[in-house]
Amino acid sequence: MDYSYVRYQLEEVKLRISQMADSCGRKSQEIKLAAVSKTFPAEAVLAAYEAGHRIFAENRVQELAEKHSALPPGIEWHLIGHLQSNKASKAAAISDYIHSVDSDALLDRIDRASSENGKKLNILLEVNISGEDSKFGLDETSAMKCAEKACSLKNIQFSGLMTMAPYGAEECELRRIFSSLRNLRDRIENSLRIRLPELSMGMSGDYEAAIREGATILRIGTAIFGKRT
Ligand SMILES: *Cc1c(COP(=O)(O)O)cnc(C)c1O
Repeated sequence: MDYSYVRYQLEEVKLRISQMADSCGRKSQEIKLAAVSKTFPAEAVLAAYEAGHRIFAENRVQELAEKHSALPPGIEWHLIGHLQSNKASKAAAISDYIHSVDSDALLDRIDRASSENGKKLNILLEVNISGEDSKFGLDETSAMKCAEKACSLKNIQFSGLMTMAPYGAEECELRRIFSSLRNLRDRIENSLRIRLPELSMGMSGDYEAAIREGATILRIGTAIFGKRT
């Protein structure tokens, strides 16, 4: 399979990100692009790597592990999918960011695993802002409590919040969801007197709205690698 198209799609996405950042007065260097390579083989990731990209995201621990060992070192790996407690230790060993933390128990597991790895793992709390039943994540009240817990742990870096908007939502609905995540982040910062720099929001279909509302990490798959089968 020829993955040379990945380089061009990646360039296109980066261009749109910088245009959108410009148009709302933000710096594109403060917006990270995590290329979501799930379901695509390591060769596809390598095409993006050879084009200079170094930040990739996967939604399953096993798949992340496979690509982690197939690809060169020096890549920043993000785990973005639901994480079961029994896989926390494996996830902590190979990830640089975990976006999908949604319980105190999981925080404890990750913290314990990180103390053994000797690197401070970045964690984000996943919040289900839209309230869809089909989505994982904390409601806003539980997120506040879980944030307190995250702050108390020594081996992890509590970096921010993550959310997913409903697929195909209208622009105004997207803006409402993304600004709610930002507002929740601001409330947590004020009440716990901490800095939470990262807002992980925005996928192929909605990243422009997310940039407008302050996203700092975009998780983009389809627009870079193509449709998943
Ligand atoms: C698959 C996935 C993405 C990327 O979605 P695209 O629409 O392909 O850009 C982003 N975030 C999460 C949590 C995902 O599982």
